[in-house]
Amino acid sequence: MEKTKKFLLPENELPTKWYNIMADMPTKPMPMLHPGTRQPITAEDLYPLFAKGLADQEMNSTDAWIEIPEEVREKYKIYRPTPLVRAYNLEKALDTPAHIYFKNESVSPVGSHKLNSALAQAYYCKEAGVTNVTTETGAGQWGTAMAFASKAFGLELAVYMVKISYEQKPYRRSLMQTWGAQVIPSPSMSTKAGRKIITEHPNYQGSLGTAISEAIELAMSTPNCKYTLGSVLNHVSMHQTVIGLEAEKQMEMAGEYPDVVIGCFGGGSNFSGISFPFLRHNIKDGKKTRFISAEPASCPKLTRGVFQYDFGDEAGYTPLIPMYTLGHNFAPANIHAGGLRYHGAGTIVSQLMKDNLMEAVDIKQLDSFKAGVLFAQTEGIVPAPESAHAIAAAINEALKAKEEGTKKTILFNLSGHGLVDMTAYDQYLAGDLVNYSLTDEDIAANIAELEKIIK
Ligand SMILES: *Cc1c(COP(=O)(O)O)cnc(C)c1O
Repeated sequence: MEKTKKFLLPENELPTKWYNIMADMPTKPMPMLHPGTRQPITAEDLYPLFAKGLADQEMNSTDAWIEIPEEVREKYKIYRPTPLVRAYNLEKALDTPAHIYFKNESVSPVGSHKLNSALAQAYYCKEAGVTNVTTETGAGQWGTAMAFASKAFGLELAVYMVKISYEQKPYRRSLMQTWGAQVIPSPSMSTKAGRKIITEHPNYQGSLGTAISEAIELAMSTPNCKYTLGSVLNHVSMHQTVIGLEAEKQMEMAGEYPDVVIGCFGGGSNFSGISFPFLRHNIKDGKKTRFISAEPASCPKLTRGVFQYDFGDEAGYTPLIPMYTLGHNFAPANIHAGGLRYHGAGTIVSQLMKDNLMEAVDIKQLDSFKAGVLFAQTEGIVPAPESAHAIAAAINEALKAKEEGTKKTILFNLSGHGLVDMTAYDQYLAGDLVNYSLTDEDIAANIAELEKIIK
């Protein structure tokens, strides 16, 4: 019998609303706090930093469905709906009874899921009459997405790019510049936050936390300029639910429902995007799907961090966020999955984790590349090093199903392709990559520092 490999939605079935899981959560997330007064912040407190439409979404915990503006839906049509694919060849290579599906977000013009939120954020900035936007980028994925989205909505963009990635991934920089953005390696001398860290640690290779501080500082000191963030925040996770909402219909076309849903985890946006629409059926309809986030062993906030209030950035410019964290002062190892090198997890995901509505696993760098190469050789797509963490977790689940002799339906999100990450694959294939281990003492020392700052 012919096997259907690819499930495509017709354009008129594209989601018209984003799903806001906050409305349905059994325990609402704790509020973000003003760092000075320690009082819960309001949407108004966020207006200086974010476009109003986005600040309002950030604080909305009552409306489960938020209309996707017509102009954003039009731009989504450039690459959405994305395919849902049954990974028959990977299943065969693993000799597993599990059915493995992946949602292919790598087909977006920028090569990752990040464009789903970038287009929305650029739209709300444009709508608010903003002319300039700033942001940070780790591996360059968010920066490229914001660069294309800013061009699409006629905004000027400045991107602080984590220095190690600026050097390791020059083509992401070229992509951003091709789409018209200005790119600055971070830490830089252009901001107070950057100057401070450069003078204290001259060889610092940068982190997302520092780049965020720089981008916020530039936005706050530039007229008619707003800041945009590629992950962690509630509104970003909500924009990404187009992934899971499409996948829900596509799984139906395939005649299956996932037992396990997996996403790699940086700040939580792609994991949220694939998971939340299915998680709502656990919360509301008693479904028993498991949700697994896959984080790097070298940056294990969900598996080994603590749940507490912390800053979202290095310099402490953001509100205090209730999150699983390793401490905003945490300097992650220079792994190639740059998009996963972030010290904390978003508020919603942190609460879900605390309430046992989801799980987390950690994946070592070499295991992620091994999984990435197997996926490339079986399914043909070279995955982003970040996405390879989700693939590794999916393979582990598929092998468990084989051991147990149970049929299991696994759905994972392929958050991006790795065609601009071939330096990393080169190094892996040459045997030059290593695993980074983090001792309990390292983690405890960092968290002790954090507790001194945030009592
Ligand atoms: C940024 C990025 C991630 C990690 O960010 P999340 O917000 O956790 O999704 C994962 N995969 C790719 C391809 C990315 O670009």
